[in-house]
Amino acid sequence: MRVLISACLLGVACRYDGKSRACPEAVRLLENYELIPVCPEQLGGLPTPRPPAEIQKNGRVISRTGEDVTAAYRKGAEETLGLCRLTGCRAAVLKANSPSCGCGQVYDGSFSGVLVPGSGITAQLLKDHGVRVLTEEDLLSSGGAVF
Ligand code: SF4
Repeated sequence: MRVLISACLLGVACRYDGKSRACPEAVRLLENYELIPVCPEQLGGLPTPRPPAEIQKNGRVISRTGEDVTAAYRKGAEETLGLCRLTGCRAAVLKANSPSCGCGQVYDGSFSGVLVPGSGITAQLLKDHGVRVLTEEDLLSSGGAVF
């Protein structure tokens, strides 16, 4: 079984701050699954490092420096969906709380660390197309037995 996964969870330094967020539980999935790493923000053409961005109440994605990066986020989401289809993934493990990858809650757009219900642009597009989206927090709470 192939599973799409946020590349930063495997240790790829693709985050906005130029770092990774390696998650041992995510890496451990390699023992049983074929993982397809993706970084939607890089696939959308954004550089690394890059200013952090958050989804605003009106749905636009705005960086901390005030740039509207919605188009890049949407492009990254479409590219990720394309890869998902190409590789036959029907499930994804994505990084919690990210404006691209978060599923169930995201930051509220004020850059103050407040989480609100919602999903990242990529996570939402994948869900809209029938992909089962989990986060690394689901791995942690289930001991890795999510599939
Ligand atoms: Fe990780 Fe997703 Fe952010 Fe890329 S877009 S750094 S994969 S959380």
